[in-house]
Amino acid sequence: MNAEIVAVGSEMLTEDKVDTNSLYLTGQLNLLGVEVVQKTIVGDDRDRLTAVISDALRRSGIVILSGGLGPTEDDVTRDAVASALGCGQSFRQEISDAIAARFARMQRKMAENNKRQAFVIDGAEVMPNDRGTAPGQWIAAGSKIVILLPGPPKELKAMFEQQCLPRLRGVLPALFIRTLHLRVAGMGESDVDQLIAPVYTKYTNPVTTILAGAGDIQLHLRARCDSAGQADALLEEVSSQIAAILGDRIYTRTGQLLEEVVIAALIERKETASVAESCTGGLLAQRLTATPGSSKAFTCGFITYTEAMKAKVLNVPIALLEKEGAVSEPVARAMAEGARERAGTTYALSVTGFAGPDGGTEANPAGTVYIGLAYPAGCDVRRVQFLGDRARVRMLASQTALDMLRRKLR
Ligand code: ATP
Ligand code: MG
Repeated sequence: MNAEIVAVGSEMLTEDKVDTNSLYLTGQLNLLGVEVVQKTIVGDDRDRLTAVISDALRRSGIVILSGGLGPTEDDVTRDAVASALGCGQSFRQEISDAIAARFARMQRKMAENNKRQAFVIDGAEVMPNDRGTAPGQWIAAGSKIVILLPGPPKELKAMFEQQCLPRLRGVLPALFIRTLHLRVAGMGESDVDQLIAPVYTKYTNPVTTILAGAGDIQLHLRARCDSAGQADALLEEVSSQIAAILGDRIYTRTGQLLEEVVIAALIERKETASVAESCTGGLLAQRLTATPGSSKAFTCGFITYTEAMKAKVLNVPIALLEKEGAVSEPVARAMAEGARERAGTTYALSVTGFAGPDGGTEANPAGTVYIGLAYPAGCDVRRVQFLGDRARVRMLASQTALDMLRRKLR
């Protein structure tokens, strides 16, 4: 079944306010196997809203309205839904009493206006609001379902979870949704897509989405089936074909971050790592230490930004710095080896480069980064040329460094 969401409120047609309720509702509906096919934002205007609801009811089986259930003249959702359905409304004393009691608990007197909230559309089930005054309404009109929810997000979420979910589960066919989050390092989005599109485009179930970050591609697979077993089998069928193409560029099948995968691998091997950073200025250490439990594997980070400190802290020979320049293959190697020796770790990563936007040389323009990895049997250095602003170059450098270590740990 398809759904539409109508967010009611003139404030959401200003530059200050964003309709977040529909994002939440979309996520919840998707989990039930319901596709959201249209979202509309309407100001507090009775006629316009009535027209929107009438249109939505022609297109979709479920129409969810958020907001406009308050006590004031400009809260028009109840009236507009009643008009669109051609129904009347009736006053319910018990709702009015419940609102009055709520005010009494706050030692306040209910305003006359609040009685507006006690009107119920003919045929509607009332959904009490334990977090606010406006009750929600659930209307099954023929094959259509219309749901009125209060605008404040806390009230809307509580009411949806407690009262709409059970009702929706009762009317929708049982559906099992299983997801798989693969992550890929060291490839661009278009390269990934070119390789795997022939696989995932064959399937409408599971649905595959590709999200791209700096040096990090996420593949989300979502299968919907009548049973959990069927959904898992579909995910396995598609993900195994993707895995066969991308191989060890996939660093997780459970959505973990690259740094979490690295820390977990180090802990499992009872090994340790340190880092020596220049242009990333601590980003590598930050990412590694953001991982809970990292103290079992990460021992030390050296941020050596000047040549003098590279020499003093990491024992990079002055002569080497003068001859090769700080952004060079031999210096990256000396930094990694120096860090590994000083920290006494199994591995050490080093990063030295021109993060840009200025700096760089003809041979090594802005965006050039050398990444070293020292390990018991030697030291590898990669030269990479990144495109992008300073933040992106730094992020890509840290990502590449972590991925070098991850591959060494395999
Ligand atoms: P109330 O009884 O509080 O008036 P209501 O159902 O009339 O409830 P609105 O007046 O439309 O709700 O909205 C109340 C507040 O809830 C708004 O000021 C806004 O902060 C928030 N809100 C309303 N709709 C949304 C939305 N779609 N997304 C996020 N916040 C919303
Ligand atoms: Mg209101």
